[in-house]
Amino acid sequence: MKRIVILGAGESGAGAAVLAKSKGFDTFVSDMSLIKSHYKELLDNQNIAWEEGQHTEELILSADEIIKSPGIPNDAPIILKLKAKGTPIISEIEFAGRYTNAKMICITGSNGKTTTTSLIYHIFKSAGVNVGLAGNIGKSLALQVATEKHDYYIIELSSFQLDNMYNFKADIAVLMNITPDHLDRYDHNMQNYIDAKFRIAQNQTPEDAFIFWNDDPIIKCQLDKHGIHAHLYPFSAMKENDAIAYVDDNEVIINEPIAFNMEQEKLALTGTHNLYNSLAAGISANLAGITKEHIRKALSDFKGVEHRLEKVARVRGIDFINDSKATNVNSCWYALQSMTTKAILIIGGKDKGNDYTEIEDLVKEKCSGLVYLGLHNEKLHDFFDHLGLPVSDVQSMKDAVDASYQMAKKGETVLLSPCCASFDLFKSYEDRGDQFKKYVCDL
Ligand code: ADP
Repeated sequence: MKRIVILGAGESGAGAAVLAKSKGFDTFVSDMSLIKSHYKELLDNQNIAWEEGQHTEELILSADEIIKSPGIPNDAPIILKLKAKGTPIISEIEFAGRYTNAKMICITGSNGKTTTTSLIYHIFKSAGVNVGLAGNIGKSLALQVATEKHDYYIIELSSFQLDNMYNFKADIAVLMNITPDHLDRYDHNMQNYIDAKFRIAQNQTPEDAFIFWNDDPIIKCQLDKHGIHAHLYPFSAMKENDAIAYVDDNEVIINEPIAFNMEQEKLALTGTHNLYNSLAAGISANLAGITKEHIRKALSDFKGVEHRLEKVARVRGIDFINDSKATNVNSCWYALQSMTTKAILIIGGKDKGNDYTEIEDLVKEKCSGLVYLGLHNEKLHDFFDHLGLPVSDVQSMKDAVDASYQMAKKGETVLLSPCCASFDLFKSYEDRGDQFKKYVCDL
């Protein structure tokens, strides 16, 4: 019997184990950390063997194939040993893809993945399509393939997941943008990261669709290099030569495959970056044959995703916006760009080698104060203090909310868009955003 070992028992690993077992494989799960109790229960219910807090080599190196959690780096000792042995290592999505004929709509990019994936799912669901949401969000694809039957899956793919995908094919692939991120996992080589993102289009044929942001300088200049075979669906904020979807005269236009239009002001999500997300979602739905009426309605009643430019409250004329998911400089750029009032920006956290030059001009133009929220704020002081804006240095969310509230004038906005990971002071970006909302509500 073929032996499949799953490394990492989070959502994707536990789901992959259930699917592997149901397909009759000798299945074993190993996690270096402690496994959450509900996943242990799931594994036990299916009689799947597992271990936690260790990787027992003889149990792992005997595998015919490994399904690796995207969180485990490629240079982890156990991975290096498996590679030396030549054991195939795949991702949960690659594995699950072998056992379904459902249509796959896959979304990647440095920013906008969750928003676009959720929006596409919302359109399909509202139109009554039998659709599953998977990848970095919701239930794992593998578990859904094992226990549910959907006609379509909308799948958010990180570069780490794409790294271990080989034969999987997306019927519709969406590439939102490529800006530097996670370079620590790519030997600090941008090309490696770009190549990982382009894997979204691998194995596609002319019958498939590749949707991408036409104005992204990296995507544009790398398109030929990656020899895309799929039909191309470029979108842009403005009407221009190649774009098949854009805004013209305040109308959202999609020309292919079926002509579509709606008023831009009816879009539920605001800001230029969200226009891109809406265009990508609209093209995907259009390709799947969803009616214009359904697409229009769903694009206009989407509620947005928590922690992404989420309106929290207005307190004495000051708007508070939670963009805690802005964990890199580019996403903060879009947040600032979408500000229609002066803003107090709460910025800082665990710096991933950030270059703040990208937002310097927008900070000058849009900000009336800065709150540095982090254990180590020296880099922020060095970069921004010379702008001469009021600055406050804090080490807790309560202090950040209090300081920004004091700085803000009526009619201004307090924007939490930190450019950084959250792990210096918070459990996660969700924890950071939740604390922000709590202290805002306490004001
Ligand atoms: P991801 O899943 O790729 O991290 P999200 O949809 O969670 O993307 O959004 C992450 C951050 O990026 C948020 O701060 C959000 O406001 C911003 N953002 C969303 N869409 C885009 C886009 N198309 N381009 C740039 N930034 C975006």
